[in-house]
Amino acid sequence: MSTIFQKIIDRQIPATIVYEDEKALAFRDISPQAPTHILVIPKKPIPGVSAMLAEDKELIGHLFFVAKLLAAQENLTDFRLVTNNGAGAGQSVFHLHIHLLGGRVMGWPPG
Ligand code: AMP
Repeated sequence: MSTIFQKIIDRQIPATIVYEDEKALAFRDISPQAPTHILVIPKKPIPGVSAMLAEDKELIGHLFFVAKLLAAQENLTDFRLVTNNGAGAGQSVFHLHIHLLGGRVMGWPPG
């Protein structure tokens, strides 16, 4: 069954897309937890970090590079990148994604 993020990739449901290339897509989170809250995802449907293969290393590095470009585009010098892995860690969509959060002071540790 395809995830909600696969439906966004396939343009079956709308999203505010801020970046796209052949390997990655980025769009604004529907429930933002900070003034900037963007999700960076691979087009390859990897369920989460635990499901990564050795061959995905370059792709995941690319997602971090896209996140860095978007942080600059959002005029963020301070920002947080988060990837939840597993329901117990807060993952609710099982298509690997990096949250780019910024525009407010971040607490630590996260909840
Ligand atoms: P996680 O809980 O780490 O799996 O993150 C999933 C994120 O996807 C949450 O922050 C949700 O608010 C976000 N989300 C769920 N559905 C959509 C959607 N249709 N468009 C944009 N963001 C979404």
